[in-house]
Amino acid sequence: MAGLVEKPHTELIFCIPESRPRDYLPDVGEDSVEIPPALLRKDLPIPDHDELTVVRHFTGLSQENFSVDGNFYPLGSCTMKYNPKLNEALVRDVRLTDLHPHLISEGQARFCQGALQILWELERILCDLTGMERFTFQPMAGANGELCGVKIIRAYHEARGQRRSYLLVPDSAHGTNPASATLGGYRIVNLPTTEKGYLELKTLKEHLSEDCAGLMLTSPNTLGLFNPEIDAIASAVHEVGGLLYYDGANFNALMGNVKVSDLGFDIVHLNLHKSFSTPHGSGGPGAGPVGVVKDLVEFLPVPLVERGPDGFYLNWDLPNSIGKIAPFLGNFLVVVKAYIYLRLLGLEGIRYASQVAVLNANYLRQRLKDLIDVPYSGWCMHEFVASAAQLKKEKGITALDIAKALIDRGVHPPTVYFPLIVKEALMIEPTETETKFTLDYLVEAIRDIIDTPAEALKSAPHRTRISRPDEVRAVKEMDLAYLE
Ligand SMILES: *Cc1c(COP(=O)(O)O)cnc(C)c1O
Repeated sequence: MAGLVEKPHTELIFCIPESRPRDYLPDVGEDSVEIPPALLRKDLPIPDHDELTVVRHFTGLSQENFSVDGNFYPLGSCTMKYNPKLNEALVRDVRLTDLHPHLISEGQARFCQGALQILWELERILCDLTGMERFTFQPMAGANGELCGVKIIRAYHEARGQRRSYLLVPDSAHGTNPASATLGGYRIVNLPTTEKGYLELKTLKEHLSEDCAGLMLTSPNTLGLFNPEIDAIASAVHEVGGLLYYDGANFNALMGNVKVSDLGFDIVHLNLHKSFSTPHGSGGPGAGPVGVVKDLVEFLPVPLVERGPDGFYLNWDLPNSIGKIAPFLGNFLVVVKAYIYLRLLGLEGIRYASQVAVLNANYLRQRLKDLIDVPYSGWCMHEFVASAAQLKKEKGITALDIAKALIDRGVHPPTVYFPLIVKEALMIEPTETETKFTLDYLVEAIRDIIDTPAEALKSAPHRTRISRPDEVRAVKEMDLAYLE
């Protein structure tokens, strides 16, 4: 298509904003940038389109995807809340984006006092929220944090001359828990969830021994249920010398209201990319800082950020440290976003956000239970699990059908078929950032789906470019090229 392009398009594509200070980049010299002729292209067929056509093309592509900015994401366990744009804007400051990770290292600390101060202050805030003594910001994701925690558990026992062989993981745990425990060298002992929907003390006791390294637990668990026996569970694990690991990837239910140290936990990881203002999906970028109680500080990864009389500095002097779990100090910009978010909300705001998250989940649960089976009676915390098992039997409508049909109605599917202990599971987490209007819309959308003949749902979604891909192949052979 002929456009009204007067300038050569290379200028459009390779324009670098003048405002970015690039003076400190090393001068590579003329010779070193010469590209061998064999590697040079003969031609570069860039389409010659006018600007508006290009804008419409890319805007159209961006709208092919679901996003929190455009759609409701009641994605259980994932905390897909709205993340304020202000935080994104603030971390785009070149003083943060152009900070070289190598600069935040020993000897260079005087050049990045501001960055170290952010890390130091956020650490204090997270300690306040969890009751932990110290945090490391190195882990790049929740799973990376879990591995860090498991290595700390191991280091703790080894320092006592013990080599315990197994970790306890409930069957409702996020899949990363058993994976991290295995990677950390432990055998997994799976704890079944009873009909009450949580790990019961009597089940735990059957699996405790002096060979147990600890328990990895989420409370509220992925069924959205808070464990009422948590005190007794913590004591029982401690009695055999084990440690308690809290999977705090999803901290929405507790933040500002309950400290995990008060529940008896020794180690916790938080997903800054779920609870604290970084959008997530497709694998990153994330941050899974790990906090520990006083007795475990000596095992944290190096370095820790400290404040001394001459300012902030990095402390590498931890002889019992597990070493490094990720390069540098983690995903710094994700950490900064969490810092801004927490400073803006303050303790009161965080507490309120958590309470609204729980209120929203309960409102939705209460309204949905007339339409679809919601096992486990009583209040839920930040999320709950519905089951389409009955609908499947009566009408042939499965959890997958509901999920896919929701896409046509503008809602991202909830987490489905997890946890495995609920048949035809739909795990729903509305988060605190959704309005009553949106929650009501979901109820009506599900009502509409249930009233639709099952055959009409089997090929949903109908309004997307592709409908039901082979999900395993789509992940294993991902092809992101766009071809008309
Ligand atoms: C998301 C999640 C994890 C894993 O976090 P990643 O950042 O995806 O590695 C672990 N546990 C729970 C409960 C989660 O929701």
